[in-house]
Amino acid sequence: MPSCHTYTKGEIALMRKGGAILRGCLQMLEGAVHPGITTEELDARAEEFIRARAAVPGFKGYQGFPATLCTSVNEECVHGIPGKRVLEEGDIIAMDCGVLLDGFYTDACITVPVGTVSSDALHLMDTTQGALDAVVAIAKAGVRVGDLSAAVQAYAEERGCALVRSLTGHGVGRNLHEFPDIPNVGTAGSGAILPAGCVIAVEPILVLGDWQIVQQQDGWTLSTRDGGISAHFEYTIAILESGCEVLA
Ligand code: MG
Ligand code: MG
Repeated sequence: MPSCHTYTKGEIALMRKGGAILRGCLQMLEGAVHPGITTEELDARAEEFIRARAAVPGFKGYQGFPATLCTSVNEECVHGIPGKRVLEEGDIIAMDCGVLLDGFYTDACITVPVGTVSSDALHLMDTTQGALDAVVAIAKAGVRVGDLSAAVQAYAEERGCALVRSLTGHGVGRNLHEFPDIPNVGTAGSGAILPAGCVIAVEPILVLGDWQIVQQQDGWTLSTRDGGISAHFEYTIAILESGCEVLA
């Protein structure tokens, strides 16, 4: 099995700096979401925010992706392309963003309500954030990938949500996607051991209903097959000897 790349304190400090820009961008976007705004307006604001801080949008151009944000609305799980779509009261929108600063990537996502949303949607979003927090609570040097996966799975399934099994988190740093994959389902005690200094993007993607997904005709957007709604939260996390640090 390959081993996880580890980063120096200085390299992690650069990711912390990029991560602060990314978190600031997501906070700005959360405040900007309202019924009537288009996803391409959100994307333009995100790009402006990042470039104004001398950083670079991490997704734009990555494998040909055309935008700064992935905007995934309702039944869309990941990789939605910003465009003319107008957000409506009751929608939920996941905004996934990457920042490249001084040669290092950070990657994070939030899902937010558009105006007032259903209690089911609130439950799904709360549970997805909670599943991510369950990972932060246990992540430290020496844990295995499967320990994190099992924590996400247990948290979600105990609360009646399903996990999109074909989408995973990943190592991150010099590259947007590095070893190891961080699945959202798994068995404690299995998988690669995470050493101090490794950096991972953990990203539970939860749905109400069946977890099977389909790709839309744009070649990017992945949506639930049954039309059930999906929520996605993501942190970039540095693994430390006695815990972890959320970098973005
Ligand atoms: Mg992401
Ligand atoms: Mg990611």
